[in-house]
Amino acid sequence: MSDHRNDHHDVDAVVVGAGFGGLYAAYKLRQAGLTVHGIERGADVGGTWYWNRYPGARCDIESLEYSYQFSDDLQQDWRWTERYAAQPEILAYARHVADRFELRPLFGFSTSVVSASFDEDTDRWLVDTQSESESESESGCDRRQWRARFLVLATGGVSRPYTPTLAGLERFGGRTVHTGAWPADGVDVDGKRVAIIGTGGSGVQALPILADRAASVSVLQRTPTYVIPARNRSADTDVERVVKADYQGFRQRTTELQFGFGAFFDQGDVAAMAVDADERERRYRQRWEDGGYSFLYTFGDLGTNPAAAETAAEFIRGEIRRIVDDPVVAEALCPAHVFGCRRIVIGTDYYESFNRPNVSLVDVAADPIVELTATGVRTEQSHIDADLIVFATGFEDQAASLRHLDLRGLGGVRLADRWQDRPLTYLGLCTAGFPNMFFVNGPGNPSITTNMIANIEHTVDWIVGCVDHAIDRGWTRVDVNPLAQNRWTAGVDARANGRLLHTCTSRYVGVTGAGQRYVFPFIGVPDYRSTLADVAARGYPGLVFDGRPTPRPGVVAPLVAAATSARTNSNSTRQTDPTI
Ligand code: NAP
Repeated sequence: MSDHRNDHHDVDAVVVGAGFGGLYAAYKLRQAGLTVHGIERGADVGGTWYWNRYPGARCDIESLEYSYQFSDDLQQDWRWTERYAAQPEILAYARHVADRFELRPLFGFSTSVVSASFDEDTDRWLVDTQSESESESESGCDRRQWRARFLVLATGGVSRPYTPTLAGLERFGGRTVHTGAWPADGVDVDGKRVAIIGTGGSGVQALPILADRAASVSVLQRTPTYVIPARNRSADTDVERVVKADYQGFRQRTTELQFGFGAFFDQGDVAAMAVDADERERRYRQRWEDGGYSFLYTFGDLGTNPAAAETAAEFIRGEIRRIVDDPVVAEALCPAHVFGCRRIVIGTDYYESFNRPNVSLVDVAADPIVELTATGVRTEQSHIDADLIVFATGFEDQAASLRHLDLRGLGGVRLADRWQDRPLTYLGLCTAGFPNMFFVNGPGNPSITTNMIANIEHTVDWIVGCVDHAIDRGWTRVDVNPLAQNRWTAGVDARANGRLLHTCTSRYVGVTGAGQRYVFPFIGVPDYRSTLADVAARGYPGLVFDGRPTPRPGVVAPLVAAATSARTNSNSTRQTDPTI
């Protein structure tokens, strides 16, 4: 096997990830005239929807919203078959987009980033990669270095599977599988005794499907989840026709909504306590029957007023007690934490599954897991026999995929060290000391609380606009002013303080080294959009542009002369107003 590490490849931009973020970044950068190379760990496009193939995986945002809008032809042509698309259909859509816009040739698949460092002499990123498929070949080269002016990281906000360290894992004689890394060739579930650990969105979606096929399913629940019925159904062609008649107007309406989706339902602005108990019940029931996230908008203060949130929680607990036959099981399924503090899950037949004779609930908060044994899971009080253990235990935090990349910025500083205490970003898109590097769906970005695809398009457009701005002016280095970064971070922290997100542990809450809790950003979509637009319109205050006279290929090469001249003329860094 030969090592071709010295085999440098020059492009204007490297994109990491071929999920919806990476695909659109590659498309948009290429459209701006840059040469692009993409790197994807998976064998194909799709990102989240490539890896999360567990039975029942389905989007919780309606299909007509959870889709790209950059091409009207695409959004007119593509026809979703269900109100909420299932994983295979979303993956097929990602593949269609990759083929339709000829994005696949831009990417190297089954390839990982080994490290990426910023070369201060040339203002370029040196990205070392390793290809799995090539490393398996006897003659091929398995390592390459890409040199690029810009590095766009579309590595996902929820993408590093978390598996708890359980004693005895190596002793377990059956099979273990994580929902976030479900094998492409499937897992044999038929007639098996299955134990699912975790009752977040993935566990909730997987349970009813696994229960259809398995001999038995034991659900190991640590924290009960508020689950709203999806009321999924075949796509309504009348609704599709109306939306497609004015898709642009429909998309525009979503930009005015707090979470960037929900154009199908009324966003209630009445306070929960402003109506009497009967009227509250009537409104909750109507939203419950409609299904989906509409329930969250029954009243305007469910995310900010604990008393209001408790009325929603109590309605759902009532539904759980009504649906689940065994009162002891029903009680154990009733969540106690503040409604809306954690992400609400949209599910199908979740609570109903506990009426099946082959499904049982194990409350591992009351009876904690001790270890895995050769034949299953031992808790303090019992043993659960299992042939298959499904870890529906979620993912590391929103910064994890970036921290794990071995990124080195100015002075060779590692991002993981810089963010040891907590991630610090400017606009949730870039971070000081790591010039020419942008991330999509990273920390400090509201992505995971919004319609991810819409947010991806919005932020990638901004990133590429910023790259264009630098290229047009001959700047070869774009960094973040630390003051602006601190101000942004403090600003998003302060906004979250007014919400109920602080009131429990969840993926929205991080803890600093000093034990201080902070919330991953909660900035509504309208405010985020207007902030990014304003920053761009004002010439990117908060960013620091600098120019260096280094020749390079692609669109930047003709601008080197301008860069040289700019640098000679100013001979200094242009530092703009750090306010955002
Ligand atoms: P998750 O929401 O983080 O849930 C992980 C579950 O695993 C929790 O119930 C957690 O319990 C449990 N868990 C973790 N470690 C455990 C341990 N040692 N013992 C027992 N239980 C343990 O993960 P997820 O369900 O994979 O969802 C990840 C993200 O993707 C979420 O934001 C989710 O909403 C989203 N998602 C979206 C969709 C969709 O669009 N339809 C579908 C699936 C997931 P605790 O709560 O006690 O920590």
